[in-house]
Amino acid sequence: MKLVIATHNKDKFREIRNKFASVGSLELVPLNEFPGAPEVVEDGATFLENARKKADAIARFTGQSSMADDSGLVVDALDGRPGIFSARYGGPGATDLERNRKILDEMRDVPAGRREARFVCVIAIVFPDGRCLTAEGTCEGVIAESMSGEHGFGYDPIFFLPSLGKTMAELPLDEKNRISHRARALDRAREILMKMSSGREAP
Ligand code: IMP
Repeated sequence: MKLVIATHNKDKFREIRNKFASVGSLELVPLNEFPGAPEVVEDGATFLENARKKADAIARFTGQSSMADDSGLVVDALDGRPGIFSARYGGPGATDLERNRKILDEMRDVPAGRREARFVCVIAIVFPDGRCLTAEGTCEGVIAESMSGEHGFGYDPIFFLPSLGKTMAELPLDEKNRISHRARALDRAREILMKMSSGREAP
């Protein structure tokens, strides 16, 4: 089965290829093999709606099965913000640094013990006939008091993992890729695809 990966991000494509290497009969196709593919506006109300909308648009455009994801940071004390607005929190021109400062500022008066947060990733796989499979992964942590670490991207410097005593940005990439929300969602998606390719489950 051909599966078009609906991302222009080369690192994401590589991570997905590594995860799915063991799924026989699956041929991953990068989106750049389809010039003119639509840019999808992420205006859904949930991660799932956004992931599904992207996968659906690419499946329609290419006529092939397509996989897309949507992810972000959910902070309990901020009523779930930035959530689906993670990429554009603080306005479209804001940098990662400014977004992290904004969250630290909004969390200034929130005591330790009420700083729970999680990274969430939802994957949607849409087949040419419109059927859709979904997989979700989360990674639990707390919002740190300050930024720390140089690895990763986005909110990694303020996302503290109590069990490791480090922020996500203090973890080398291979360690992050073992525990992250995206890794967990990909593991679930791989299980589903494995079952399908061994004929134990219809798409
Ligand atoms: P996307 O859905 O992968 O494009 O992610 C949307 C936004 O969520 C990113 O721009 C980041 O701000 C945030 N985000 C998603 N995954 C991560 C992560 O692994 N670390 C830090 N921030 C993330």
